[in-house]
Amino acid sequence: MEKRFAGKGVLVTGAGSGIGRAIAVRFAREGARVGVNYHRNSGGAKKTLEMIVSGGGEGMLLPADISQSDAVEGMVEALAARFSSLDVLVNNSGIGSATSPDRVHEISEEDWDRVMAVNLKGCMLTSKAVLKYFMKQRSGSIINISSIRGLLGNPVLASYCASKGGEVTLTKEMALDYASFGIRVNCICPGFIDTEMFQVYLSKQEDPQAARDTFSKMALLVRIGRPEEIASVCAFLASDAASFITGVALAVDGGYTANGVREIK
Ligand code: NAD
Repeated sequence: MEKRFAGKGVLVTGAGSGIGRAIAVRFAREGARVGVNYHRNSGGAKKTLEMIVSGGGEGMLLPADISQSDAVEGMVEALAARFSSLDVLVNNSGIGSATSPDRVHEISEEDWDRVMAVNLKGCMLTSKAVLKYFMKQRSGSIINISSIRGLLGNPVLASYCASKGGEVTLTKEMALDYASFGIRVNCICPGFIDTEMFQVYLSKQEDPQAARDTFSKMALLVRIGRPEEIASVCAFLASDAASFITGVALAVDGGYTANGVREIK
């Protein structure tokens, strides 16, 4: 594989599973030194690091709850101290709705705040911590992993949709604020991707297998996506091949959002 990120430092949040792991491994395969952030999931993060190292790459485990500013500052300082260069941030960490069904008249304030704290505030805090370095060096790339739920509404996912929509507009806002510093900020909006989060979501449906089939058919490509298919787009957006792209929210969803037809139940 081409080493587009040789000598570069990359931080991936929530890299102990799913999409985050695939992104971390992808950057490492392309020559980057990768900070593997995780919260609680130390077993998963170690597995990610093993995959990086076994592929001949270099990584570093970085425990931190991204919703806590002190933890985030400490994590970024540790990474910058170990890797001489910090060039790419991927804000991937996320949690699903804590309440089911997650509707405004039912959700508790506490559950709403937790989803916002991880999905949206976490994205802001981690960006804030790396921007200090990016602004000084006048370069850098931030990629936020939002969701098609940040582009469209979805029944019973109020807090998740709102947090992911916030990531989309925060991406565009940050693209404006930091373009003059040579910093690009972009966002990926994945469709249904086969990860632990998706499995949990399926398990909450009445008939998980039937739901999986239905979700597959919602994509024009009639299947669920793979984490590696998000990772390859992420690497593209961070690379020089995307040097004229900033402020976009790119749906990587097998065509899900191209199909505006929705059955009203
Ligand atoms: P996942 O549950 O495997 O990954 C989420 C990761 O975030 C986990 O490793 C988890 O430990 C980490 N995390 C949770 N809270 C954290 C915190 N406070 N601090 C640091 N890390 C924390 O799920 P995934 O599907 O790989 O999701 C990755 C991202 O992709 C999420 O932002 C999710 O919203 C988004 N996404 C996923 C799908 C999908 O279908 N799987 C679709 C659209 C968007």
